[in-house]
Amino acid sequence: MSNATKLIHSIPTDPLTGAISVPIYQTSTFLQEAPGINKGYDYARTGNPTRFALEDLAAKLEEGHTGIAFSSGLAAIDAVLKLLKTGDEIIAVDDIYGGAFRLFTHVYEKFGITVHYVDATDPIHVFNALTAATRLIWIETPTNPTLKICDIKTIAAIAKAHSCWLCVDNTFASPALQKPLVWGADLVVHSATKYLGGHSDLIAGLVITKEKELGEKIKFIQNASGAILPAFDSWLVIRGIETLPLRIEKHCSNARAVAEFLCSHPAVDKVYYPGLTNHPNHEIAKKQASGFGGIVSFSLKEDTTEAAIAFVTSTHYFKLAESLGGIKSLLCHPATMTHKSIPSEKRKASGVADSLVRLSVGLEDAGDLIDDIEQAFEKIKHKSFLLKK
Ligand SMILES: *Cc1c(COP(=O)(O)O)cnc(C)c1O
Repeated sequence: MSNATKLIHSIPTDPLTGAISVPIYQTSTFLQEAPGINKGYDYARTGNPTRFALEDLAAKLEEGHTGIAFSSGLAAIDAVLKLLKTGDEIIAVDDIYGGAFRLFTHVYEKFGITVHYVDATDPIHVFNALTAATRLIWIETPTNPTLKICDIKTIAAIAKAHSCWLCVDNTFASPALQKPLVWGADLVVHSATKYLGGHSDLIAGLVITKEKELGEKIKFIQNASGAILPAFDSWLVIRGIETLPLRIEKHCSNARAVAEFLCSHPAVDKVYYPGLTNHPNHEIAKKQASGFGGIVSFSLKEDTTEAAIAFVTSTHYFKLAESLGGIKSLLCHPATMTHKSIPSEKRKASGVADSLVRLSVGLEDAGDLIDDIEQAFEKIKHKSFLLKK
């Protein structure tokens, strides 16, 4: 059975009515015949059939054991961190998602959890940062926004040898392209707000565990802390996932066309896209994922915030907004938007230059998107700072 068929038929029909679409069980509580005697549900924070359908689908998609759905990607990340206790250490990829950095550093460090940020594109840096207290290794691949690639299989082997967990934030690739649990990771997290939802119309998060035992721990945290995904939003994510393989294919081909165009443009300094053969970890990206995704970043020869802001306010189809992974193309300026909570020295050291622009290439026609970028470059040429040849 092909992946597309498997995916579509992993979405259950309703056992009660035969409804082809998963029903939205909009209820807070469930009837009990006698205390503790019920149809498998008692209270909707603990369990809801619509959410369960999504959680089950997510587990199947990532080839894991348990899926757990949260009210945001950060709530999902937060649930994983709650596996830790005071004194534990985390090794995390250095150009981590800004919100995860804020949570790790400004919430969890005060509980005595230490985070070591390393350039995880070379697994030796992860290995060298291990201590007796390391409990969790945290990577993103591709990373946000400079599309660095970490070798999941090698880092999973390091985690296993050291008896700590490897968690992969798989938001950028999505399970349509990359399945970290198959490469040996213990946990995967998603901001389902992005490609899984796919339409820029919801906020949601997922954790998927490889093993049942870790799944039970996260489920306990989900119920104990309460940041569940509501029934309607669960339904929307299921609806998004139905077209995931189809959308991802187009995101990938459009992003490649845009990346190749940017490489040829005289105003552009660096182009970041794992599908380019000159990307430093292109070979690993090719090995561990079946495609290179829909995100492309680039910096300008005129490496200033002003030049980047002029660009991001000159496009028509690429809309200036945070987030990514929807059908509509978006762009953002990480230094002043998604990554502003990261100190500037640290930000620059991880490759997020002042002029870096991140594109979330949507599902419009590739030629129209390239024309849009071209006209934006023409427009900013006439501003006070001239883009250098
Ligand atoms: C957006 C994002 C998150 C956070 O998810 P929310 O749904 O916004 O809470 C985490 N990781 C990555 C890589 C993201 O892009």
